[in-house]
Amino acid sequence: MTKFTDLNLNPKVLKAIAEAGYESPTPIQAGAIPPALEGRDVLGIAQTGTGKTASFTLPMITLLARGRARARMPRSLVLCPTRELAAQVAENFDTYTKHMKLTKALLIGGVSFKEQEAIIDKGVDVLIATPGRLLDHFERGKLILSDVKVMVVDEADRMLDMGFIPDIERIFGLTPFTRQTLFFSATMAPEIERITNTFLSAPERVEVARQATASETIEQGVVLFKASRRDREGSEKRKVLRALIDGEGDKCTNAIIFCNRKTDVDICAKSLKKYGYDAAAIHGDLDQSQRTKTLDGFRDGSLRLLVASDVAARGLDVPSVSHVINFDVPGHPEDYVHRIGRTGRAGREGKAITICGPRDEKALVAVEQLIQKEIPRLENPVKSKPVEAKEKPKDEAKEPREKKSAAKSRKSDKSDKPTENKQKPRGRDRHDRDNKVVGMGDHLPSFIALSFAERRAG
Ligand code: AMP
Repeated sequence: MTKFTDLNLNPKVLKAIAEAGYESPTPIQAGAIPPALEGRDVLGIAQTGTGKTASFTLPMITLLARGRARARMPRSLVLCPTRELAAQVAENFDTYTKHMKLTKALLIGGVSFKEQEAIIDKGVDVLIATPGRLLDHFERGKLILSDVKVMVVDEADRMLDMGFIPDIERIFGLTPFTRQTLFFSATMAPEIERITNTFLSAPERVEVARQATASETIEQGVVLFKASRRDREGSEKRKVLRALIDGEGDKCTNAIIFCNRKTDVDICAKSLKKYGYDAAAIHGDLDQSQRTKTLDGFRDGSLRLLVASDVAARGLDVPSVSHVINFDVPGHPEDYVHRIGRTGRAGREGKAITICGPRDEKALVAVEQLIQKEIPRLENPVKSKPVEAKEKPKDEAKEPREKKSAAKSRKSDKSDKPTENKQKPRGRDRHDRDNKVVGMGDHLPSFIALSFAERRAG
């Protein structure tokens, strides 16, 4: 087995990784670090959780240990699809460079331009950025990319999903032709293949564990769910979610709950909170400080349930997540593998439970085809047991109301709203309130408004 000490890494890097507790390189590290240190381009096909971040960070900082950064001219560039992933790469970078004097800047949305520009002005060794923000800085004329020696593209398949490929192509064009490129993607879609053929030069291809491979330490299950009525789908599904969490009991130390839609992320988090669960939402529309606060809470264990969208949770690195719950089956089957890969990391055990409604069944078939196995069916915890008093929410009578905007986008799901407003007055009351009879327009003969008895008496 390869050892870190066989890899020709800088001794200060070796010291930092020993302190981080890493004993031996993961397969992507063993495969990517040697060619990267030789200055070759690398095409790494690996998903998160495989140690891919270190597979490009470690050689990069070893190469950068020589030489100095010049003002406004970063020596290396790491492009990430999301702010969270960029922030995480920056954290990794800090861990591995703790015994070295390398500087970095993080260019992500939600952080002021001024602050970031001041750092770039001084000169940085590593620039970690999301593509849009990097181009914004470039267009302000504050950034020169002609000194970039190493460029990393991380999670290229996600960049493709998010429509960043034109930005990436543009950035490639702004960096010197002679740069070294380390390119990572979990999948090789034709568009990704095209980019790598265009911008990488004779890359060393390192592929670890097919994208469809879910860790063997993850126990999977799916609950087939059908609402009793269409307009109750949302509230009944949230009830299943709560029952699943309750069913796991103390085994569920923390969980990420994935929803396909942002509106559901908000609704689920609010609903869980209302029912007394320790939950918070994270999705792309929240401001940066809120996202950072929520993620920090989840990382340090003070927040138990993180309700997330795929994009927001991308690359989220929390080493011990006991459970992943899919509130719905993801539309892209690869997302299923990414989602459940948040648990069962580094050989730990994890459990992934998916709720599948009738409309999700096709997506479930696609997931099972991709992972090439059937996900065991679990009993619906709500149907299988009559609701006992202790399983009832503290305030079942008042299912949480959804925020107006969220409710608007799910008009058919009205069951969270209190019912009394919906009841129409019946019989005489109806005349009293409306003073109108259907079909008569405004020309209502006065006797019609009278009751039968009143009419006879009159
Ligand atoms: P990544 O695939 O980059 O998201 O990394 C997944 C997790 O594995 C992170 O928590 C890393 O800190 C950790 N990790 C990376 N390399 C190693 C290693 N060689 N040994 C143990 N843990 C590692």
